[in-house]
Amino acid sequence: MQKKEVSKKILVTGGAGFLGSHLCEALLRSGHRVTCLDNFSTGLRRNIQHLENAKGFDFIEHDIITPIDLDVDQIFNLACPASPPHYQADPVHTTLTSVLGSLNLLELARRRGARIFQASTSEVYGDPYVHPQVESYWGNVNSFGPRACYDEGKRCAETLFFDYHQSHGVAIKIARIFNTYGPRMGPDDGRVVSNFIVQALKGDDITVYGDGSQTRSFCFVDDLIDGFLRLMASPETFTGPVNLGNPCEFTIGALARHVIELTGSTSRMVYRPLPVDDPRQRRPNISFAMRELDWQPRTTLLAGLKKTIRHFERLLANPELEFAEVA
Ligand code: NAD
Ligand code: UDP
Repeated sequence: MQKKEVSKKILVTGGAGFLGSHLCEALLRSGHRVTCLDNFSTGLRRNIQHLENAKGFDFIEHDIITPIDLDVDQIFNLACPASPPHYQADPVHTTLTSVLGSLNLLELARRRGARIFQASTSEVYGDPYVHPQVESYWGNVNSFGPRACYDEGKRCAETLFFDYHQSHGVAIKIARIFNTYGPRMGPDDGRVVSNFIVQALKGDDITVYGDGSQTRSFCFVDDLIDGFLRLMASPETFTGPVNLGNPCEFTIGALARHVIELTGSTSRMVYRPLPVDDPRQRRPNISFAMRELDWQPRTTLLAGLKKTIRHFERLLANPELEFAEVA
């Protein structure tokens, strides 16, 4: 997906975040004009500092819960905190970001005739009874627990996307993203891969929540961004929702052991209470993405962890590094 395409004006909301900054880079590499929009709630200026002088790159500091008007051909809506401690810190704002924010961007897409992509999530399946998760599964979500602001906000966003598609003919693309990790995650992000690597590199205890038997399936960032680009470029009639993730499933205990081994750390695993409503198991069925987008992840967990460990080693050695240098 590296070939040059006809240059488009593309808005990336949440562009200063982990996934957003990788997406901005990939779009610039393909010759597009990219407007990165972010409110810096969890994103960092240093994620995009290396792009600031790049040809075709522009930045707007803005919160998507406030309407905005721009000349755009395509919109990637990634704006939303994604780590549980981050999205639970201000749950009302998290819900508003997914609901009001999506509404504002759908209005922009309708006015400008733009194609719009939504970063939805495997969390729409909640603590799933169907395993692996297929797109036709409606999920098992608590509407008022600590994860609800994120899960229900993203579910409502999917509803809004489909209603704008059906009522106003807006071209929509919905990706249900499963746990993704990689270089440029922040050391205090709070998600499991970054927590374990940082703890292992510092020689701190590795905090396994619960007994570590819960599972996740981890996708390396480069694979996911390739899926984003394929989905956005898919025929107008293809809306999704489509699962994007790596179907190789690991227990959290096994992840901790891999990180300890790869870092050569002397850290020990300690057990902490399992957070409320923490899903017991998660693994995408990606048959739909394989068939419709000709997409599947290529990076094994061990290869992806090695690259991510290198990122954190360099970052911890020099916290002032621009993230371009460590990505
Ligand atoms: P992230 O926290 O690094 O990035 C989110 C970005 O959105 C940040 O730069 C943040 O400052 C910005 N943002 C948040 N609220 C905003 C608002 N109201 N207005 C403007 N900007 C706002 O997280 P990420 O992992 O890069 O996730 C990006 C998107 O992908 C999110 O929508 C997330 O829900 C979705 N997603 C990610 C994963 C994953 O594993 N990384 C999994 C499922 C879904
Ligand atoms: N987790 C853990 N230790 C940590 C952070 C997370 O054991 O330091 C667990 C968490 O309880 C969950 C899994 O790892 O079962 C994935 O957590 P993460 O926050 O990365 O993503 P999500 O729960 O949203 O899938």
